[in-house]
Amino acid sequence: MYRVGYGCDLHRFTEGTSLRLGGVTIPFTNALLGHSDADVLLHAIADALLGAAGLGDIGELFPDDAEENRGRDSAEILSLCNEAVENEGWQVSNLDCVVCAERPKLGALKQTMRDRIAAILGIKPDQVNVKAKTGEKVGPVGRLEAIEARAVVLLEPLEE
Ligand SMILES: [Zn+2]
Repeated sequence: MYRVGYGCDLHRFTEGTSLRLGGVTIPFTNALLGHSDADVLLHAIADALLGAAGLGDIGELFPDDAEENRGRDSAEILSLCNEAVENEGWQVSNLDCVVCAERPKLGALKQTMRDRIAAILGIKPDQVNVKAKTGEKVGPVGRLEAIEARAVVLLEPLEE
């Protein structure tokens, strides 16, 4: 018995000096706009996890008009989603994701994000895959207006 889940997210650029992606702080010429820390990749992963377990979506559990979620660390959000999934009797078998960003260049950061995501979820880095794509200079990603992320997760029964 397995369960599959899919998540996607997009955040716009705003003024700033760094952004958070996959739980990693990356110095950059802009930040990402969002109610929490705007970690677009962790949000996509959280939605994939919740979706696979039939638990709705991140907006239901962490409303973007709730004061306690302002500036919130998305690693904490993802960790709580993972706990909710485990409470339903599931654990992550593997996770695959894509970050679509024209800039910053993410090639050198993929392994760091993998390690960080695995640590947040309490799994091994080889159960997590992170891919990076550009927007080919078109669309909101290619015009440097936003970063998008997509994630797919497979859940297996929790081993006690
Ligand atoms: Zn988001």
